[in-house]
Amino acid sequence: MASGVARVDLDGRPIKPMTICMIGAGGFIGSHLCEKLMSETPHKVLALDVYSDKIKHLLEPSTLPWADRIQFHRINIKHDSRLEGLIKMSDLTVNLAAICTPADYNTRPLDTIYSNFIDALPVVKYCSENGKRLIHFSTCEVYGKTIGSFLPKDSPLRQDPAYYMLSEDASPCIFGSIEKQRWSYACAKQLIERLIYAEGAENGLEFTIVRPFNWIGPRMDFIPGIDGPSEGVPRVLACFSNALLRRQQLKLVDGGQSQRTFIFIKDAIEAVLLMIENSARANGHIFNVGNPNNEVTVRQLAEMMTQVYSKVSGEPPLEVPTIDVSSKEFYGEGYDDSDKRIPDMTIINRQLGWNPKTSLWDLLESTLTYQHRTYAEAIKKAISQPVAT
Ligand code: NAD
Ligand code: UDP
Repeated sequence: MASGVARVDLDGRPIKPMTICMIGAGGFIGSHLCEKLMSETPHKVLALDVYSDKIKHLLEPSTLPWADRIQFHRINIKHDSRLEGLIKMSDLTVNLAAICTPADYNTRPLDTIYSNFIDALPVVKYCSENGKRLIHFSTCEVYGKTIGSFLPKDSPLRQDPAYYMLSEDASPCIFGSIEKQRWSYACAKQLIERLIYAEGAENGLEFTIVRPFNWIGPRMDFIPGIDGPSEGVPRVLACFSNALLRRQQLKLVDGGQSQRTFIFIKDAIEAVLLMIENSARANGHIFNVGNPNNEVTVRQLAEMMTQVYSKVSGEPPLEVPTIDVSSKEFYGEGYDDSDKRIPDMTIINRQLGWNPKTSLWDLLESTLTYQHRTYAEAIKKAISQPVAT
């Protein structure tokens, strides 16, 4: 822990050191949460995942100041009898494990549904049966499309927040038809949310559900052909970073008209830490975690990333930096999209007093500096290697 000062919660009570079973700790969000917990708190983490590359710097060498507070368990929660024991040993379980890249939702819908619903069932059950607190990661995608998206394009009502603002306790969940398999993820996440909520109502499970709104930053996903499969399609930050690093055009799906609000991972992790350390204020709640001030269309995101990357790399942008592609060409059959995602922040503000801080420009500058430093040389090498015939 950085300082010797005792930590207190939002109500001034001392925070007792706890043991946290973190499932999916080796992923993007898990790696940042582990970093925060190790550097700023006295808590212990049992880190469960099938991969550990993104937290290797926290696990080795054994001389690290937090070495006795983090333990990695290489476990696939689909089939591992150690899971219940690890949950029992902990005060709190944080479940991050999921398939959560849109390119998988319509092409691997069964894996997506199993991962986001079936595989999460034992975690909920073990927490409920053993009286353990659970923080479960859901998604903003459970809201699906906005009510406003069904209004005529020129309707003035589209400007009214009542038609687009996404509120935990009021907004409906609006998905496309079953053939639009994109919604397999959102639907599985919605059902696990309902199950957790019901466990709370009927069996007293202490839970918090987190709905992340496009958290982005270093270590998100992978760069195809460098630290992930060459044909893989990660989320938009990594797709655009990959194109910028390779001096290729950024692909805009269906014209890049969809809107998103992006939040810097480090701001979002502050919110999760508040949930962890303020159980009385967080239990029984579903929280939107996003930055309503950072809204852009995907086209605007591409333009901003092009400018920022040119600044951090010192390379001039391509003359025509983007290219339009159809969603069918890019994602295949069954893709569909959320039109707009603005989080209502009322509940998280009231319960935890939390607000995001980082502007979109600043978070892109910091993230693309990382991408350039981490990948530019490896990409140059990969490009210069002759292709095997
Ligand atoms: P990620 O893919 O980087 O992390 C998920 C981790 O879970 C991976 O390391 C993966 O190996 C692990 N995992 C998956 N299945 C597992 C299994 N069966 N056993 C053990 N480990 C397993 O994704 P992320 O961005 O860190 O997202 C974490 C959670 O937050 C997910 O539940 C996701 O749905 C949710 N979420 C994230 C965002 C975002 O903006 N990043 C948005 C919406 C929802
Ligand atoms: N997108 C895009 N080009 C890409 C990757 C994604 O235009 O190379 C779009 C995608 O269609 C969606 C948005 O960017 O409208 C955000 O996609 P992401 O994969 O990050 O996940 P989502 O926010 O849809 O869950």
